[in-house]
Amino acid sequence: MTREYTAVIQAGGKGTRMRELTGDRIPKPMLELGGKPMIQWQVENLKKYGIREFVFIIGHLGEKVKDYFGDGTAFGVHISYVEENEPLGSGGALCYLKDMVGASDVLLVFGDVMFDIDAPRLLGFHEEKQAGVTLLVHPNAHPQDSDLVVMDENSKVLRFDFAKNQRDYYYDNCVNAGIYVLANEVIKSLGEPAPLDLEKELFRSALEDGKIYGYRTTEYVKDAGTPKRFRAVERELLQGVWQSRNLESPQKCVFLDRDGTLNIYKGLISSPEELELEAGVAEAIALLNAAGYLAIIVTNQPVVARGLCSMEEVREIHKKLSVLLGEQGAYLDDMIFCPHHPDKGYPEENPAYKIPCHCRKPDTGMVEEMAEKHHVDIKSSWFVGDTTVDIKTGQNAGLHTALVKTGEAGKDGKYEVQAELEAENLLDAVKKILAERKPQ
Ligand SMILES: [Mg+2]
Ligand SMILES: [Zn+2]
Repeated sequence: MTREYTAVIQAGGKGTRMRELTGDRIPKPMLELGGKPMIQWQVENLKKYGIREFVFIIGHLGEKVKDYFGDGTAFGVHISYVEENEPLGSGGALCYLKDMVGASDVLLVFGDVMFDIDAPRLLGFHEEKQAGVTLLVHPNAHPQDSDLVVMDENSKVLRFDFAKNQRDYYYDNCVNAGIYVLANEVIKSLGEPAPLDLEKELFRSALEDGKIYGYRTTEYVKDAGTPKRFRAVERELLQGVWQSRNLESPQKCVFLDRDGTLNIYKGLISSPEELELEAGVAEAIALLNAAGYLAIIVTNQPVVARGLCSMEEVREIHKKLSVLLGEQGAYLDDMIFCPHHPDKGYPEENPAYKIPCHCRKPDTGMVEEMAEKHHVDIKSSWFVGDTTVDIKTGQNAGLHTALVKTGEAGKDGKYEVQAELEAENLLDAVKKILAERKPQ
């Protein structure tokens, strides 16, 4: 990150849903989690990465926030305040920033979103994309009732699909998490104070200009805006989950084969209609999600090289997989596929992909790319698949390996390899992997 940033925390709002915890004596952002106000955790996370300028947008009972933080000196930062006397929607108060942030970009955070993120990664992405607006997005366990961010392959946001909409298409599990980076020009372009909705109004021009991007991360970012969620977030704080998911920390991961492991083996699949989950797969992945393992698909899809389907059609199949898992409360952290095949000479082949490559399993290019991107600790991570090619891949990459007896059940006969553990299916494999980790 090379630019200057002002962090803006939207700490206004009535906090009606949290009244059973606040008793309407303190504003929501001052509720304590693990002995510190929510808003203090936000300040400390960002301060760790060198952000010193803060603006708090305060409203109902805002004087309690001011009494606690003052000008920020006691917390090693500088804090200014915007007092929002009447509610201006999610974005209306931002126009006051015009005269407060100088030439800096703005990192906007909502007061009930708790997070522990490697902020320079997010801000570096924002700068590299030269984005007008960058939204932090992530997969969650209930995409069907969440606001989705629809993006293209370069992370450019195409549109928002709000939770209330009917969805009759396959979508990526990619949810707006409530953390935004706004370029200085965007702030400077705002008009007079008036109610303004961020997604529906403010971001519209950035969308039209193609200058809005989604930064997808697996880090800890959760809404703590209801008493139930607040308690879950506090529990995860005390268990060390927030910190462990920060990408500064090495991540444990289960790399997953696709065909025959997640979905029923039917040879080469070239359309979403052919994709059907194996029994227990959503439950298995939800267990990985809950245990803090990344779940990442690594699959060979020579269907592209053979001319049976396009890159876009493979992505469509993967969206169906996301939707099926999402309906059952599970999500994948990432997916990568090799579209290549080395042997030329098929009549309908796509020559651009008929090349030798470093990604096709059992080569390790895909695992390496994902390990780099997600800071995966190889030694505590696994490869699970239904063929000897998968086991060979895992071994080549230095991962633990598990063979499942679904799909080809290890009978493909390509390599002489022995997996560390064998399991009836993915759910059985995941239970064994999680049991093996327990004693450490
Ligand atoms: Mg397979
Ligand atoms: Zn490849």
